[in-house]
Amino acid sequence: MSHHSRREFLRTAAIAAAGAPYLGSILSRREESSDSPLGGRRQQKPLGFALVGLGSLSTNQIAPALQKTKNCRLAAIVTGTPAKAVAWKAKYNIPDANIYNYDTMHQMADNKDIDVVYIVTPNALHAEHTIKAAKAGKHVLCEKPMEVSTAKCQAMIDAVKKAGRQLAIGYRCRFEPHHREMARLAQSGELGDVRIIESGFGFQIGDPTQWRLKHALAGGGPLMDVGIYSLQSAEMIAGQYPIAVSAMSSKTDPVKFKDVEETMTFELKFANKISAYCSTTYKVNGINRTTAFAERGSFGLTPAFNYDGIKGWRSDGKELRFDQPDQFANEMDDFASCIMAGKPTSVPGEMGLRDVRTLMAIYEAARTGRTVAL
Ligand code: NAD
Repeated sequence: MSHHSRREFLRTAAIAAAGAPYLGSILSRREESSDSPLGGRRQQKPLGFALVGLGSLSTNQIAPALQKTKNCRLAAIVTGTPAKAVAWKAKYNIPDANIYNYDTMHQMADNKDIDVVYIVTPNALHAEHTIKAAKAGKHVLCEKPMEVSTAKCQAMIDAVKKAGRQLAIGYRCRFEPHHREMARLAQSGELGDVRIIESGFGFQIGDPTQWRLKHALAGGGPLMDVGIYSLQSAEMIAGQYPIAVSAMSSKTDPVKFKDVEETMTFELKFANKISAYCSTTYKVNGINRTTAFAERGSFGLTPAFNYDGIKGWRSDGKELRFDQPDQFANEMDDFASCIMAGKPTSVPGEMGLRDVRTLMAIYEAARTGRTVAL
């Protein structure tokens, strides 16, 4: 079990702190053309990205981040709302031929302007949109959580593989230097072996009618939405996937949270004897941290999961502080550079699938009151 979990993690994670180069910053652009199953179309031009779903994240983070990338450009949009098409066309100078809706996006197959399709729709639509993009012959970057079931995650992996393209999951913290330093500190043993991780991410959710509170579209509540950050943080620090989980959920407002959990606490057990205690909620603000307790000291991030303003600390008083990059720009540049170089992404669909399997095990553990092995 332990060897399997470690091997699987290394195969799918190629974790940054374990030595994966910071591809976004060291890309050497080549001019020759060559095709490989992973991409490998080496070119000087930035890759064209199509954004699918022009909601909050696309509007406020991803489109502005695309303007800061080195290897990417906003080439196309997919939206079901004609008014958004008009506004985005004007703001980002997008030609009519590169504006699609969910029913026409298969026509991207004929559009050489588009290399990568970035899926930014509600969780339970990720598979449908990823598969359409793969069938059109495009690489896919898909937001977290990958989907709402392992079967749908597997279908996404299969479709992208069949198309001979790459699939990456939008795990932005993997491209954030404070999180990478947490992993490096843990794995270097600088403060001794890490034994316990504590991590939490939650917020007070507003509008009771939004898709995040509907099981059919979200696949669950805060665990799917933001608890996944604590899972990812623990995996980065532990350097492997968990082998068992236990969990409890609680609810104070059964009307608003009739469809999904309100608060979830969960424990992850790793084969290297690290335990992680995590919490996530839609009920209160202010929980946003990750801490690693090692044999000779501790280190952590508070807040840990913001788009910027992350603050790190070490118990020995040394600095844990870096310039704050745009995490989305780094994430997209990294994927583009992998495609250009024909190298596999460090955040592949297999990692997204493994995490969805863990999230489903956490729900099972909360439902049954039992520890669930992975
Ligand atoms: P949002 O509600 O603001 O946007 C969702 C978009 O999908 C909207 O434009 C909406 O019109 C469109 N859509 C298409 N079909 C829909 C349907 N049937 N029902 C509802 N909306 C539909 O959501 P968001 O906050 O932009 O989140 C989108 C995705 O991005 C989610 O998977 C979420 O988990 C992820 N996300 C990731 C981060 C991050 O930091 N990486 C942050 C926020 C959201």
